[in-house]
Amino acid sequence: MNYINSLDFAKEQDQKDPLKRFRSEFHFPNFNPNGCYYFTGNSLGLMPKRAKEAIEQELDDWARFGVEGHFHAKNPWFSYHENFKKGAAMIAGAKESEVTVMNGLTTNLHLLMASFYQPKGKRYKILCEAKAFPSDQYALESQVKFHGFDPEDAIIEIPPRIGEHTINHDDIYDALKIHGDQIALVMIGGVNYYTGQVFDMKSITEKGHQAGAIVGFDLAHGAGNIELKLHEWGVDFAAWCSYKYLNSGPGSVSGVFVHQRHEQNKELKRFAGWWGTPSEGRFKMAKGFEPAVGADGWQLSNAPVLAMAAHKVSLDLFEEAGMQNLFAKRDALTGYLEYIINDISNRNPAANFEIITPKKVSERGSQISILTHGTGKELFDFITEKGVIADWREPNVIRMAPVPLYNSFEDVYQFGQLLEAGLNK
Ligand SMILES: *Cc1c(COP(=O)(O)O)cnc(C)c1O
Repeated sequence: MNYINSLDFAKEQDQKDPLKRFRSEFHFPNFNPNGCYYFTGNSLGLMPKRAKEAIEQELDDWARFGVEGHFHAKNPWFSYHENFKKGAAMIAGAKESEVTVMNGLTTNLHLLMASFYQPKGKRYKILCEAKAFPSDQYALESQVKFHGFDPEDAIIEIPPRIGEHTINHDDIYDALKIHGDQIALVMIGGVNYYTGQVFDMKSITEKGHQAGAIVGFDLAHGAGNIELKLHEWGVDFAAWCSYKYLNSGPGSVSGVFVHQRHEQNKELKRFAGWWGTPSEGRFKMAKGFEPAVGADGWQLSNAPVLAMAAHKVSLDLFEEAGMQNLFAKRDALTGYLEYIINDISNRNPAANFEIITPKKVSERGSQISILTHGTGKELFDFITEKGVIADWREPNVIRMAPVPLYNSFEDVYQFGQLLEAGLNK
């Protein structure tokens, strides 16, 4: 697309946008009298207006039915998680039996590693990306300690090369070649939260398997952002949260994927709970855990229906919008943000911006991370006061996500105007 840094151009794109009606499905924050240009959908997605009614439905049914709501609510709570099969399968590129929705993300990573990180003999190491999201680092560190290993020895981190910001896939593949027979698990964030780099999950899975390892992904920044084909890629397991690109509310439930090849394996160790048993026999309260087939067999507890009601609304919006439409707009909008930043940088000697997100469209999703080299924080505070909501990462990176469901080209244009005003003040 040939971009132009002008209001007319931005408005024309918004007019032509087949997804434009979805913007009005969301509440934009209104606490700043200067307005709101929201670019943190990768941190906490905006609230779908329909969420309120959906949660009220569950509150009303709770008031009306009490415990009988498990079977008599409009959306019976006993089988509530089944409402998410279709949507989660669409987001993950999975079969319905391979996905479920439960708990929080880090909790699920631990539950999945309880099953899929099984050190044996000299094969006890975990390969991951350097500077993974802190919660993932802590999860991996505590997992290896739990099995009696020293994280310094048992965790192999792949950093970017010197002078580079993103990770070179060859370094992952080389590590798999060199340490392959010691690696029990490859566990990577499918989209890096800091740079926005999208990893080639298909190849990593293939090469991880060749080395004899299990391969799992944290898709916190992938779900609802990039195209996932977890089944086809042969990924062993994955988990994601629903409050970033999936707009399901602060701390809302996490999605889980377990590949079909593991669904009948009753020998897999796991931490069990009553909701992981087949629904038919669940209320018999029988002794002896028998897992349900597929991802459902990893469930522990009955569903937190109030939080999940918003997730249902959100997945419905994704289905209405259509994933391919979202991906097309994502690339156009992210490209526009990149263009605007480069245009400003080229025209303003004071700007010293470096985009550290990959240039290649296939290696990024909605996010652009800008290394500001020096002037950054003051500029960031200026645009924040003017209504921009973006994300500051120490020491000097601005992370932004123009989200195709609700951001407009005009949002991006106006951001550029404020950025330039901040540079020239
Ligand atoms: C957001 C995020 C988390 C957060 O974990 P919670 O358990 O939901 O608090 C974990 N890992 C990654 C990679 C994230 O981006």
